Amino acid sequence: MKKVEKEYFLKLLEKEKEKISKNLSYAREVIERGEKGVPTHIADYGTDEFEKDLEVGLSNSESKILQAVDIAIKKIKDGSYGICEGCGKQIPKERLKVIPYARFCIKCQTEREKSEK
Ligand SMILES: [Zn+2]
Repeated sequence: MKKVEKEYFLKLLEKEKEKISKNLSYAREVIERGEKGVPTHIADYGTDEFEKDLEVGLSNSESKILQAVDIAIKKIKDGSYGICEGCGKQIPKERLKVIPYARFCIKCQTEREKSEK
């Protein structure tokens, strides 16, 4: 993958991360406000908090996406971004543009979904 492409996808991923973080922070704030009656600091929202969210079942799917986004960002940095974890082939860029945190090509994703059912 070319450097410009990496930068392009990194930007997409960071945007996605920001969007999800905001949603999660908001959901968490509402819950904590309900529990303690005071708004909480959301600036230092870290990994531990996400694990806590998973425990209470809050925004479960968004936490999962956020994890996938983090993995994808790491992959851009180590150069393995855009490669399917199932078959090792390049994931089509058109797919990555829609789901920048995709870990599998469409074929492998479909097979995984089938086997999960
Ligand atoms: Zn694949």
